[in-house]
Amino acid sequence: RQRSDDDYDMLLKVVLIGDSGVGKTNCLSRFCRGEFQASSKPTIGVEFATKALTIEGDLIKCQIWDTAGQERYRAITNAYYRGAVGALLVYDVTRASSFESIPRWLNELREHASSDMVVMLVGNKTDLVDQRDVSMQQGQELAQREGLLFIETSALDGSNVEQAFSRVAAEIHGIVR
Ligand code: GDP
Repeated sequence: RQRSDDDYDMLLKVVLIGDSGVGKTNCLSRFCRGEFQASSKPTIGVEFATKALTIEGDLIKCQIWDTAGQERYRAITNAYYRGAVGALLVYDVTRASSFESIPRWLNELREHASSDMVVMLVGNKTDLVDQRDVSMQQGQELAQREGLLFIETSALDGSNVEQAFSRVAAEIHGIVR
């Protein structure tokens, strides 16, 4: 049957968090629009984009929120997390400091987000093979310790970006269904 924009089975709010520059905005634009931006962006205000996914026959509308630079000022507001059922916690595999920030981000999630939120740890920029600073094993171990899903992505070449979002959506769908 024909479906309109407002005709979906489930609306999922998913937030992107992690240090500035790890590739959050590009993961969103890659997933929602198939685009990558090499240059840096003007960042003002929170924005979100949507993308529809079909999971087990249900049309899921994913509403993906981007901090749009708020994290630089440690000023992510409660409104950002409100109603979110999933989070992609992103670090840059070429920048160890962004990986070392993950515990701080997990604290922030525990403070502001719902405790049953599905969280995926995402190591982005795998295309920069020669510059890798955080191994896949380090990411896996941290995820296991903290009870998070885990994936490595490249917003530049697109690898695993769709999988990251659809895995989170499928997990939530399975819980809520
Ligand atoms: P944000 O601050 O976390 O939203 O990060 P951005 O999406 O703005 O990306 C920061 C910088 O990293 C930009 O110059 C992007 O072009 C670059 N970038 C983002 N993702 C990737 C990636 O997967 N591979 C590479 N090589 N660069 C990336």
